[in-house]
Amino acid sequence: MLKTVTSAVVVSLALAGPIAAQSTRSSDAHVHGSGAVSIAIDGSILSPMIETPAYDVLGFEHRTRSAEDRRLVSAVRSLLENPQALFDLPVSAGCSPRGVDVAIGAENDGAQDLGDGGNTHSEIAGQYIYECTSVSDVDRIGFPWFEAFPLSLKLDVVVLSARGQFAGAVTPDRPDFRLQ
Ligand SMILES: [Zn+2]
Repeated sequence: MLKTVTSAVVVSLALAGPIAAQSTRSSDAHVHGSGAVSIAIDGSILSPMIETPAYDVLGFEHRTRSAEDRRLVSAVRSLLENPQALFDLPVSAGCSPRGVDVAIGAENDGAQDLGDGGNTHSEIAGQYIYECTSVSDVDRIGFPWFEAFPLSLKLDVVVLSARGQFAGAVTPDRPDFRLQ
């Protein structure tokens, strides 16, 4: 048990290191670990739109330079294009993915190196469309996203639906968002 706790502390320190170094170098505005997801529910369509700093999924924000960078971007793209790995919807809602559109700043040839000292992030954006047979059964949305991307530490969540607007946040420790 003690060994497990010790390991967890070591891991969290290792993760905190580069983030702390980054915020020391950069302006206060350039902070990593936090993104946003807005989820519109309209009729039978449920569509999450997620935006985070590229750092939170890639670990860097510079334009791809090496084969290793490109390999990592490709692996991250595969994860981002697999909504099953990111969102967990109640089975009874019968939601099936119908579309995915992912944009990764680092892939853009015109992207600048923004990770060191700039006020602006290189961004990741993903737009997802589900069609649900019983959308009213969506009373919670889980985020296995945090298992896929351990550098992502928080997502602000807004849900817009006929039942109302819901807002909050999810974290690796509390990855379930409840519509209530
Ligand atoms: Zn950044």
